[in-house]
Amino acid sequence: MTIPRTDAQGAPAVAELGEWQRALRAQFPIITAHPELAYLDSAATAQKPQAVLDAVHAYLTTTNANAGRGTYPWANRTTELVERARDRVKRFLDDPAPERSTVHFTSGTTEGLRTVARDWLPGLLADGDEIVVPVADHEANIAPWLETRQHLARQGVHIRVRPMPYQRASGDYDHVALAELAGPRTRFVAVSHVHHVYGGDMNIHRIRRAVGPDTVICLDAAQSVGHLPVSVADPDVDFLVFSGHKAMALPGTGAVWARQARGPGFTPGGWSGTPNTVGIASLAAALDWLDAAGTDRIERWTVALAARFTEGLRHLDAYEILGCQSSLAAGSSVQRRQGIVTFRHHGIDSGDLGFILFSHGFMIRSDQHCQGSAGERTGSVRVSLHVHNTAEEVDRLLTVLATLG
Ligand code: PLP
Repeated sequence: MTIPRTDAQGAPAVAELGEWQRALRAQFPIITAHPELAYLDSAATAQKPQAVLDAVHAYLTTTNANAGRGTYPWANRTTELVERARDRVKRFLDDPAPERSTVHFTSGTTEGLRTVARDWLPGLLADGDEIVVPVADHEANIAPWLETRQHLARQGVHIRVRPMPYQRASGDYDHVALAELAGPRTRFVAVSHVHHVYGGDMNIHRIRRAVGPDTVICLDAAQSVGHLPVSVADPDVDFLVFSGHKAMALPGTGAVWARQARGPGFTPGGWSGTPNTVGIASLAAALDWLDAAGTDRIERWTVALAARFTEGLRHLDAYEILGCQSSLAAGSSVQRRQGIVTFRHHGIDSGDLGFILFSHGFMIRSDQHCQGSAGERTGSVRVSLHVHNTAEEVDRLLTVLATLG
């Protein structure tokens, strides 16, 4: 199948960044060891570059100890490593006032959001207050907030959960409806930065404008950290939560960044036990690697590949692409699609399509993607791209999909 290449399909970015990308791809041992396979599931978890594997090996063979407890050199070095990693997260997030923010390490976004919901949100809310919950987002960004409502209700504090409207046509939250539903009792809004199914950049600036300056915004950045430049300097969010393992660190890592501006200070409750020191070491190394690679270039690369893939898929009648179609066009008024493209075959079940595609060497996600109650009713297949993916992989996938038409 020949697909015409135009600017809107990212061809210039693919040509311009090709050499840079080849050098980075060569740094992923699991990728280079399997040239016959294409890993297209980075939204689930990301592969690790050699620098991260080296940092893990170095930590475990020279330093490994518990943090914040012993006084001997390995223990001291581990304690310092954890503290430096907090600063590294702040620098990575372009934190303009690091002395006024905190970083709490977690096992991932799910635990991070639940920590905010369990240990902080109840202190903000009074009887009759309202919170806004994005019901077509990942379940991890829905369930914790509903649990807070239940928990408060048991104490006689009744809060109202307002579902965040989502517009399939624009691939974005419905900002007009949000502006109408956000009122004086709206204290808290949970949002995602990049949608894990539709791939849209959810335009957090517009969320802040819609809800005004006094409402707390908690950003689920699971699909943006590591994929594009993320700055807490602007937009003005209060919490940013992400998964380290989706940003090239080890599984079981993640963080909550909290600005201490609105509401009570964020202090995760209870005794938290031994931190995941090797995971934290891997996270610091991953953030170093991502900064050196350039998250702006990673974004251009993955957006270009997503555009190439979407454009090719659009020509195949057997498939429906979920989310906004026009968000890839230059100058589009809606937010652009990042490196996530989710689609369905009109006649082949998504699970079966997953098996078929793996028989051709493609690793993709197929099911309902842990989407909340207002999400898609039937399964679909998700292709999620990272810097090691190539235009050749995308073209090969399109060729296979064309044969299934
Ligand atoms: N939020 C979003 C948008 C996600 O895509 C995911 C995972 O896919 C999560 C939260 C949960 O992340 P984790 O499983 O690392 O806790």
